[in-house]
Amino acid sequence: MEFSALAESMSALESTTSRNEMVEIIAQLFKKLDAQDIRRAVYLLQGLVAPPYAGIEVGLGEKLVEEAIAKATGYSEKEIEREYVKAGDLGNVAEKLCESKKQTALFSQELTIEKVYSTFYKIATLSGHGSQDAKISMLAELLNNALPIEARYITRFPIGRLRLGVGDPTVLDALSFMHKGDKSDRERIESAYNKCSDLGLIAESYARGPASMDKFAMHPLVPVRPALAERLPSAEEIKDKLGECIVEAKYDGFRLQCHKKGDKVEIFSRRLERVTDMLPEIVDAVRKELECNEVIFEGEALAYNEATGEFYSFQQTIQRKRKHGVAEKAVEMPLRLFAFDLLYIDGKDISSYPFKERRKKLEALLKKRGTILPSESYRAKSSAEIESHFEDFVSRGLEGLVAKDMNAPYTTGARKFAWIKLKRSYRSELSDTIDVVVVGYYAGRGARARFKFGGVLGAVYDTHTDTFQTICKVGSGFSEEQMAVLQKKLDVIKTARPNARINSLIKPTYWVEPKYVITVAADEITRSPIHTCAKEGDSPGYALRFPRIIGELREDKRPEDATTVDEILDLFKMQRRADIVGPADG
Ligand code: AMP
Repeated sequence: MEFSALAESMSALESTTSRNEMVEIIAQLFKKLDAQDIRRAVYLLQGLVAPPYAGIEVGLGEKLVEEAIAKATGYSEKEIEREYVKAGDLGNVAEKLCESKKQTALFSQELTIEKVYSTFYKIATLSGHGSQDAKISMLAELLNNALPIEARYITRFPIGRLRLGVGDPTVLDALSFMHKGDKSDRERIESAYNKCSDLGLIAESYARGPASMDKFAMHPLVPVRPALAERLPSAEEIKDKLGECIVEAKYDGFRLQCHKKGDKVEIFSRRLERVTDMLPEIVDAVRKELECNEVIFEGEALAYNEATGEFYSFQQTIQRKRKHGVAEKAVEMPLRLFAFDLLYIDGKDISSYPFKERRKKLEALLKKRGTILPSESYRAKSSAEIESHFEDFVSRGLEGLVAKDMNAPYTTGARKFAWIKLKRSYRSELSDTIDVVVVGYYAGRGARARFKFGGVLGAVYDTHTDTFQTICKVGSGFSEEQMAVLQKKLDVIKTARPNARINSLIKPTYWVEPKYVITVAADEITRSPIHTCAKEGDSPGYALRFPRIIGELREDKRPEDATTVDEILDLFKMQRRADIVGPADG
């Protein structure tokens, strides 16, 4: 199919703020495409050429893209720069210049989705001597053949500025609409997606036949979408919900999904990015310490100090996630991996087994107890037992506990009551920390003027509508260095209008794409007419009182992994309860 069909849809997506309309636009597009083109379109709509776990990124610098535009249109790079300063968007510049090309190609060809996709794939995978020039030429060739509207998106794509706001839930709904005209197949599609984490592959298979969804299976080396934890405020409520349960130490490190197939090992982060190369000692341990041929298991990795036997905090541990100096860091800050779930072993997907059976198999697998250890775990029959484990974990510097339903299957890709977390911060402060998505930022004024940075507008994620709802403006807690780094990062993702998935009544100085997550502490959650979090009609929304930033950007979380609107409502309820209990106790 011609690329223009996809470009037209992208343009329609850009001009709507309604998620239902977005679903409709994408479903209509899918109806026109064959199965293979649907796969390519899914990747392209999300700014990708492959599922995120493959780690194949196009990522061209603006300078190179400007060179390609110059090559294709005959305008000089200086002229392009000038237009860019005026328009503020390189895609719009390419579109305009393509309308008035100084030179026309001798052989101009209609672009297809296949051609555009395969060219970007080549650009992403080309490396070595002379690859830079080859990439520019390939991009210039696309632009040479592009209609103006196509040029807009061909230019934005490689610099990561597509700004369409097409999240996974929108694509899943659109697929269901394509065949069913409603959302009735969404769950079935999502359950297949949970097992392979490749939305393009899912889309292509679903287009070939909905029945294929029921045949998707887990495979080692292919990441599975992770289960998530719910939260409750007290041991009593956990006991009421689960009855007898398993309680485990909650480690504050980073979550790893480890895969092994024969000699091959792959490790994925919570966001399902491939982090194998950053964790040599974990790879080695997965290879040597487990007596099995194939496995998928999950655990939490923590750096520790061999001299004192103490564990480092998350903020220190996260330094291990880096691309350079890996070997030195592995010696300086070795990791321990606390394994907490087993999903697959030697040809068998055991994710549907009751947790107590998975745990038994996990313990049997970890006999060596070297770098990989089983998470500390106990059976608890009463709330008093849960409480005493909680006190014990917290007194040893752990974050709290995760209580697990002994009979539940592994809930791939979902936040269900199979896991319930109880963290110490629920007790010591009025509220837990909140992970907000940065959706805008403010120019610095007064003393901040020299940083050009005054703070950010933060939002939480609404899972029901796949949108971001504002909850706070936060300007405190940033160090000078953090402000400078953050501003630089945010500058790159500035947008003229709010992304379609942002719902805000407030206008920051600059809008940005929902991309970065940052942790915020606050005194309490209050009702507020100006924030959209859980706002219905004329009634007020919810906001954070006295918010302040803690720590660095949470690069391990995607915007969709931020705190959700439902979690805020739960925290608000817990806090009300604490208010009632608090004074009476005092
Ligand atoms: P949170 O990030 O606060 O939503 O808490 C859930 C996270 O706790 C999981 O994603 C894991 O990364 C982490 N975690 C730490 N220890 C455990 C454990 N024993 N079982 C499950 N998750 C754990």
